[in-house]
Amino acid sequence: IFITLEGPDGAGKTTQIQMMKEYLESLGKTVLLTREPGGTGISEKLREILLDKENAEMSDTTEMMIYAAARAQHVAERIRPALERGEVVICDRFVDSSVAYQGYGRGLGDAVQEVNRYATAGLEPDRTFFMDLDPAIGRGRIGKGVQDRMEREKLDFHYRVYEGYLKIWQANPHRVIRLDASRSIDTIQSEIRKHLQQMLDE
Ligand code: C5P
Ligand code: MG
Repeated sequence: IFITLEGPDGAGKTTQIQMMKEYLESLGKTVLLTREPGGTGISEKLREILLDKENAEMSDTTEMMIYAAARAQHVAERIRPALERGEVVICDRFVDSSVAYQGYGRGLGDAVQEVNRYATAGLEPDRTFFMDLDPAIGRGRIGKGVQDRMEREKLDFHYRVYEGYLKIWQANPHRVIRLDASRSIDTIQSEIRKHLQQMLDE
């Protein structure tokens, strides 16, 4: 089973993912918890390039291609092998992030889908939890001093990303589950667990 978490920066994805792993392991599942950009040696190096504040001159197309390159390695080296072993894979961000950030945020549009279909060889998540939070609130949760190159973008960029996520959710009603991420950590987690139970029963 392949599960992804998506949403604006500061929505609380990483916290929820840790709790999901604990829950699934308590049910006896083997869980691979991983993140994007990153998840392999090569992909983590690409992450550094992508998020380094010094790389302000990076073109939008370069950015899209590096995210996709990091993802191609991640899928080939870790995600697909784990799925083939029958494990549950939980990934912090996946192709939807690229559609939202590079497609809607940067305005690169449909090219992002195409490049990523190639990068992933068509792999798609079984379920995606979209942590829905106003980007201005997300920004407030992140300390200013620790912002990466993307997080430092103006708020209107982050609102375009957010609108992109809403469109992705609307276009994929069976795959994408929207969660109100302004609620408490425990409330969100118990809703996620209900969905996980359902998935495991299917
Ligand atoms: O750890 P976190 O998920 O916040 O780090 C990933 C960073 O990369 C975020 O700042 C996110 O905005 C950005 N990102 C992006 N495009 C993607 C994936 C992530 O701009 N396709
Ligand atoms: Mg972030």
